[in-house]
Amino acid sequence: MTTFDALRPGKPDSILALMAAFREDPRENKIDLGVGVYKDASGNTPVMRAVKAAERRIVEEQTTKVYTGLAGDPAFGEALSGLVLGGRAPRERLSMVATPGGTGAVRQGMELMRLARPDCTVWLSDPTWPNHPAIVDHVGLKRRSYRYFDADTGAVDFAGMMESLGEVVAGDAVVLHGCCHNPTGANLALDQWRAVAELIAERGAVAFVDIAYQGFGDGLDADAAGLRLLVDRVPEALIAVSCSKNFGIYRERTGLLIALSANAKVTQGALASLNRLNYSFPPDHGARVVQTILGDDALRADWAGELEEVRGSMLGLREQLARELRDRIGSDRFGFLAEHRGMFSLLGATPEQVETMRREHGVYMVGDSRMNIAGLNATTVPRLAEAIVAAGV
Ligand code: PMP
Repeated sequence: MTTFDALRPGKPDSILALMAAFREDPRENKIDLGVGVYKDASGNTPVMRAVKAAERRIVEEQTTKVYTGLAGDPAFGEALSGLVLGGRAPRERLSMVATPGGTGAVRQGMELMRLARPDCTVWLSDPTWPNHPAIVDHVGLKRRSYRYFDADTGAVDFAGMMESLGEVVAGDAVVLHGCCHNPTGANLALDQWRAVAELIAERGAVAFVDIAYQGFGDGLDADAAGLRLLVDRVPEALIAVSCSKNFGIYRERTGLLIALSANAKVTQGALASLNRLNYSFPPDHGARVVQTILGDDALRADWAGELEEVRGSMLGLREQLARELRDRIGSDRFGFLAEHRGMFSLLGATPEQVETMRREHGVYMVGDSRMNIAGLNATTVPRLAEAIVAAGV
């Protein structure tokens, strides 16, 4: 037996398998609600105008490709943390490193938890983005789930959440989605954020916020409002930021890990060292694009305007879908689809119903019935409503 015979393929990714099945389906009117990528009404994921303009400027003006710093260009961290935190946390308690995407930030954050508190438990919402538990397991931390989603109402089961979090102890990390919860689309209200912040602070736990969709829900500031309340209250936090969606630069791998701690200098050193150990210098191109946009009033306004159009189109699709369903079933049972925010909603269909919608109607959603709302357009919404009703959801 050779060394590599011991390897096992990673767990197959259900979303990638779904993408392949969709590609192979010859039906012309098939609908892809699978992978978490924003699409416009024609099904394209265009490069945003401000991104193109910033890239042109970078190509023209960049005079060197020499390494940045281990934490990335500090101006990127300043600009992006400003967008996320809105100046709320005291600068002297913050440290930050650029990372390859939001995933890189989640990974580095988990590694920091392991360095600081190897016996901690990481608390994840049930359900959550599948890469959360996978990364926690891979870095070797313990994890537990807290109740989050009430399938009957399509809303957050807040009483259940607080009951589960009652078992959090000092040094544990509580992972929260900053906005646009993936996969459910159900989000905490501000008073609920306040209560969670209180609990985390009282217990001496670390708030770990993953924010990957700022600007996709209720707007750039509104989407960060809960997180800003939280950093006002808790002594220690980690914030994993992704620029993949709101700047539409998925493949550029642009993210930032922000830490809030008492001794930011020590934390900064630990974060830079984690970058050094894992990949040395973080990717720069996407970070430079983001920094260029955020630092230029005209580009920033253009970007925010285009993002607002993206947000508005998803809200419009949500409202249309809720309306089409109400017209068909004569009740507001699916009203939660218009209340949810972001790209995703958990429909609450059984795996059999998901399979029926795929087989009979060419509607592709993830097995847990997560739908990417951005995969719809005004013409496909009524067909989806038809499929949902016909499958008996
Ligand atoms: N967190 C959540 C909840 C996500 O949905 C995603 C994107 N699927 C990410 C983090 C990270 O995205 P990326 O690494 O592409 O920036």
